[in-house]
Amino acid sequence: MKYKYVCIECGRSYAVESGRYLCDDCAPKQSADQPLRGQLEVQISGDAPADWEALKGLAGHPRLDLSVPEADVRGLLPVPKGFFPPIPVGNTPLWEPRRLREELGLEGLFLKDDTANPTGSLKDRASYLVAAFAAQHGLKDIIVASTGNAGSSMAGVAAAAGLNVRLYLPASAPVAKIVQAMQYGANVIKVEGTYDDAFDQSLAYVNEHGGLSRNTAHNPLTVEGKKTVSLEIFRQLRASMPDVVYVPTGDGVIISGVFKGFEDLVTLGLADKVPEVVCVQADGSAALTRALASGGFGVPEAAHTIADSISVDVPRGGLFALGRLQKHSGRCVTVSDDAIVSAQRRLSSSSGLFAEPAAAAAFAGLLADKDAGRGPGKKDRAVVLLTGNGLKDIATAMKGVEE
Ligand SMILES: [Zn+2]
Repeated sequence: MKYKYVCIECGRSYAVESGRYLCDDCAPKQSADQPLRGQLEVQISGDAPADWEALKGLAGHPRLDLSVPEADVRGLLPVPKGFFPPIPVGNTPLWEPRRLREELGLEGLFLKDDTANPTGSLKDRASYLVAAFAAQHGLKDIIVASTGNAGSSMAGVAAAAGLNVRLYLPASAPVAKIVQAMQYGANVIKVEGTYDDAFDQSLAYVNEHGGLSRNTAHNPLTVEGKKTVSLEIFRQLRASMPDVVYVPTGDGVIISGVFKGFEDLVTLGLADKVPEVVCVQADGSAALTRALASGGFGVPEAAHTIADSISVDVPRGGLFALGRLQKHSGRCVTVSDDAIVSAQRRLSSSSGLFAEPAAAAAFAGLLADKDAGRGPGKKDRAVVLLTGNGLKDIATAMKGVEE
């Protein structure tokens, strides 16, 4: 397999090398309070590794084992396997929630449980690849801004890898996520301001002092690492695509990764087409929803939602995500904070999976679709992507049990 970086705006290509984050031609066009310009994506080419090639023509084959990771997702990532740190990221379970299926009349409902990652969130997929890249290039220091999950994730994965992490956190981040990052040994800098302020400060630090930026969207490997969730869903559905996937969305990087994973499977000839991907946002933090409706990003609005992981004024990975939503006829659904709290409780009490508010938003999106009569059909295979563990934000979860 061959890998290169390609600018999502102008198509200029670059080698996958240390110090390369954005397109030289497009990044200078950056204006304040807008999504990142010149974001790069990893483009793959060549033949699939043998373990993936072996899945061809086996769609739905009953002898394919759902649980055994026979086809290794690392074989489709731009860092050789030997550089990945010793921490079991990914290969998370795909639940078949019987009670929820019965309650909702959705026989093909699945829950992709990324709360089962080592630090409790999907962000580990990006941290894992970033840590491998650091090892490959002899880098020791990683800098990241985060509302909580990306930072605690990078801290945990770095602890396994023996890397240093400098983490910029808005003071409003849930205390569990701050404690978690500090437990892993990160150097935490609390920022008086929003995630956007933390992001700017962390980039200023990298520009001045060097180190590897793990900032989501800024480092192309963050989207690329997150694509592994789609590769796993494909494998777990016996080498076939789901009909629809619900993705909680804030800065746009997870949904970009979800699209990218499905696209790579099509590129490799393993699947025919990218499935429907639904972007679920809190109605108080819905920049991508507005952009998809209007065709572009306007003046940012201050985000207000209890779902901290998807609370974003300016979606840094907005151009990538918007481009993919447009290309693949994606759509957006917004949900209220009340709907998120109630969906969180319902998911927990009907399935046994306790997800954080941002993750529960994806389930709330499915419920909203169902109420509006545009949800998945009874037999459709619908996957809800649950991105973070409920124990990460107890204060919000309390609202669900006090109702
Ligand atoms: Zn460019």
